[in-house]
Amino acid sequence: MSEQNRGDGLSPLSELISLEDRRAIITGSASGIGRAIALRFAEAGASLVLVDVDMEGLRSLETEMKGNTAPELHRVDLSDKAEIDRFWESLEGGPPEILVNNAGIYPFKDFLEVDEEFLRRVMDVNLSSVLWMSQQMIRRRIDHGGVIINIASIEALLPFMDHLSHYGASKAGVIALSRGLARDYGKKGFRVNVLVPGGIVTPGTKGVAKSIAKLNLGLVMSGLEFRQRLPLRRAGKPDEIALMALVLASDLSSYVHGAVIPVDGGFLSA
Ligand code: NAD
Repeated sequence: MSEQNRGDGLSPLSELISLEDRRAIITGSASGIGRAIALRFAEAGASLVLVDVDMEGLRSLETEMKGNTAPELHRVDLSDKAEIDRFWESLEGGPPEILVNNAGIYPFKDFLEVDEEFLRRVMDVNLSSVLWMSQQMIRRRIDHGGVIINIASIEALLPFMDHLSHYGASKAGVIALSRGLARDYGKKGFRVNVLVPGGIVTPGTKGVAKSIAKLNLGLVMSGLEFRQRLPLRRAGKPDEIALMALVLASDLSSYVHGAVIPVDGGFLSA
């Protein structure tokens, strides 16, 4: 049956999943999960505004995307509110309707050694940047609405690895912030949701795995226990997060709002 002739009044799937005529900001898109999200959003027809500190990574992604509309690349250190403000002021063509706050860092540190500078950095990149980016977007689109997708972590809900309390706290903040924004701005036409990844193999997690293998047997053991406990018994791929992000960004999820959605191979359920 052709899409036009379904006769049930529902939009065809191809239309629901499409991001044609939409612009999306994706932070941390030079690597890992953010990169995978950028590739899927481009495939769905979105125009992309890619943000990272790593311009080389963004340029290599741009090369990989040839064939799609050229993305805008922006070097922004998201730990710095002034840089975030300058980025929004520099945007041409109206504020994008989709914002994915993905950039994050997960440096391991013994809780007793956490100092002010270290904590400030983790909180600035992982939590404050999500707040400032969302504030800028909501201010600029207050009469138009939009979609915000924030990336938290299973560590916020079920701390598992040693030496990540600071990280779990920052990501718990992302969940609380997202739910608060969902409550306050749903009526203004914003849909705000949180993805909760766990166990995804990315350049970031590969780097961590290498460095902890050298440093600390306890951490190596918690990595192994993690695998054993995973119901799906395998690590996830960045694209498996990207596909859920695409659902949340598109009209496939028009009634999904304020949701906290694990994409973790079942880890939180086991
Ligand atoms: P990654 O290290 O591979 O990529 C992160 C990207 O963020 C990099 O391109 C990096 O340059 C960028 N970035 C870091 N600090 C920045 C800053 N100050 N300003 C701008 N850009 C900055 O990481 P990933 O594994 O793809 O993780 C992406 C997100 O998913 C993070 O928020 C992470 O906490 C979260 N997460 C990942 C996993 C996982 O298993 N990989 C699990 C739970 C949550």
